[in-house]
Formats: sequence, C-alpha cells, structure tokens
Amino acid sequence: MTTTPAPVPPPALRPPADGECQFCGSHPAAHVSFQSMTSIVILYVVSSQRGWMCRNCGLAMFRHYTNKTLLAGWWGVGVIGIPIFLGVDRFRLRRILRLAPPQPTPGVAASLPAPLDPGKPLIQRPGAILSIVLVTVLVLVIGCGALAFATT
Ligand SMILES: [Zn+2]
Repeated sequence: MTTTPAPVPPPALRPPADGECQFCGSHPAAHVSFQSMTSIVILYVVSSQRGWMCRNCGLAMFRHYTNKTLLAGWWGVGVIGIPIFLGVDRFRLRRILRLAPPQPTPGVAASLPAPLDPGKPLIQRPGAILSIVLVTVLVLVIGCGALAFATT
C-alpha cells in the first residue's frame, strides 16, 4: 500500500516590509520621498509619495513627480519653488540610483507583480519640453527688452 504525500500548503504571503519596495516587493529598496507642486495663480498644492522604493519604482516615481512639477508648476506663485522642488527631488534620487537592480522577494505579496517601468527619460516628457519652451521665450523677451532699452 502506498500513500501519497500530503500536499504542501503554499507559503503564507506577507506585505512588503522595511527594505522592500512598497509597490512591487522587490529588494533592495531605499526609503525616499518625491514631491510635485501644482501652482494656480495665488495657490499651490504639494503632493508627495513617500516610502520604500526599489531602483525601478523609485526612478518611475521621480520622473512622474518631476514631470508633474514641470507641467503644473508654472501657472502661479509656485513658479518660485520649481527650482527647489527639482533640486530636492534630484538629490533624493541619488539614493535610488545607488541601489542594485531589483530582485523579487519570495513570500511577499505586493500590489504590483513586477517593478514599475521607469518610462521615458525626463527630457522626453511633456513637462521638460514645455519648460524648455517657456524658459526660452522668457529669455528672449527679457533679452529683447534689454536690447530695446539699451538702444534708446
Ligand atoms: Zn519596486
């Protein structure tokens, strides 16, 4: 008489812990935050994403939030804060870029099955293109104004 072995229950899954990406559960991860700013006339709204992120998810978040600032930061008093937001988020990105490529963590159930695709580089996104156009126009207007003032 032969007995069949009892089926082995699947290991219990747990949510991502510290050191594991909050989005995909991969490791290694760093605890960072990225912020964006939307400016409307005299108001501005800051939104942020904070937590443990792997290299891919962190880079995707950096690009998303920076693009959002470059698109929505120009339209009010918050324009003053654009360089600050860009600089701080870029500084925080350094911790993400130092990480090794993400590896799946066995036994972790995260909201995403794989790391996020970082997507297009920032320079190819609408926010960067809009910002380059706006800064170019601003420089030309100021330059023409200064030239007109100097020649009168
Ligand atoms: Zn991830």
